[in-house]
Amino acid sequence: MKIKSVRARVFEWKGKTVPPQGNFCSNAMDLLYAPQETMSTFRFHSWTVVEIETDDGIVGLGNVALAPAIAKAIIDQYLAPLVIGQDPWDYEYLWQRMYRATHAWGRKGVTMAAISAVDLAIWDILGKSVNKPVFKLLGGRTKEKIPCYYSKLYRTDLKEMQAEAQKFLDQGFTAFKMRFGYGPAHLQKGVAENLKSVEAVREVIGYDNDLMLECYMGWNVEYAKRMLPKLEKFQPRWLEEPVIADDIDGYAELNQLTSIPISGGEHEFSLYGFKQLLDRKAVSVVQYDTNRVGGITAAHKINALCEAYSVPVIPHAGQMHNYHLTMSTLASPMSEYFPMHDVEVGNELFYYIFDGEPVAENGFVQLDDNKPGLGLTLKTEYLKDFNIVE
Ligand SMILES: [Mg+2]
Repeated sequence: MKIKSVRARVFEWKGKTVPPQGNFCSNAMDLLYAPQETMSTFRFHSWTVVEIETDDGIVGLGNVALAPAIAKAIIDQYLAPLVIGQDPWDYEYLWQRMYRATHAWGRKGVTMAAISAVDLAIWDILGKSVNKPVFKLLGGRTKEKIPCYYSKLYRTDLKEMQAEAQKFLDQGFTAFKMRFGYGPAHLQKGVAENLKSVEAVREVIGYDNDLMLECYMGWNVEYAKRMLPKLEKFQPRWLEEPVIADDIDGYAELNQLTSIPISGGEHEFSLYGFKQLLDRKAVSVVQYDTNRVGGITAAHKINALCEAYSVPVIPHAGQMHNYHLTMSTLASPMSEYFPMHDVEVGNELFYYIFDGEPVAENGFVQLDDNKPGLGLTLKTEYLKDFNIVE
């Protein structure tokens, strides 16, 4: 079997969007002085879809959500020529070929995301070629089904947040992640607002359920040091990405500071990046995303690394590619779960592009033992709502 062609297309959403409200989520731009920009940069309204076809007619599907147009250019110009004509079963060699050929200017960020998309499509081919789901090629089933946590609860009106938490509590979720709306620029008033929102959600879900807190890099170390002791009484399962991904020393300091575990990794890349985080004890929960970190070839190695460090892996974003990794390793106790809803930030866009993404039932997602490959196909229902760039 040889790879015959690589096609990368950008799906740009032009359908209906719901504008996020107010201070819906702190983010890395919050530390700058132009507050009006901070929310508008937080959008993921396009996606790159990669289709790789083999000479015996199997088509593998991969995807990347970071900087889609740039990812497409990297795939078209640099990665496709490296894999065309090659045997997809030589996936380790192909991965190293892509990684090393782009090393001078790649390594992390959008290049690794582009490599991830190609690698995902290759693994989809491998599964389809032997009629097995990808997780069966990685270690198989380690759990009956995958526990997942509800991940949305953007900062809005507190009553609305409470109603949202109640709705998904009623659907059987036992773990919830909420977003902080305020950071250092909002001074003491923002501190109080952040605390009020955690209290409001805890009021609904109680203390028998898990609560995760998300900062999305919108804080700095000094602010986080003030916030963490105040948050301890709410017993969060973790506090996520308090500072920018490059501040590994900051993560390490915060992770030792209180009883609250610090999580991160959705903006980290490659086996080497995670070894650094783990060596420094910078995170207590690893949250790579398979479509950023180097695909399944890299994520599978990071799982082994985390197992050796006894640090759980709870991948970013749910999504099919991550579920296969979570299903196949004991190091991964659960998954994130983005619910499907009207297009807002864009986290939910994959539901509009792909068919086959599992829907949570009672706080669990299930993978089908009999669905070969990753188990996704392109959805036709919303094609009219996308501008597709070839
Ligand atoms: Mg996150």
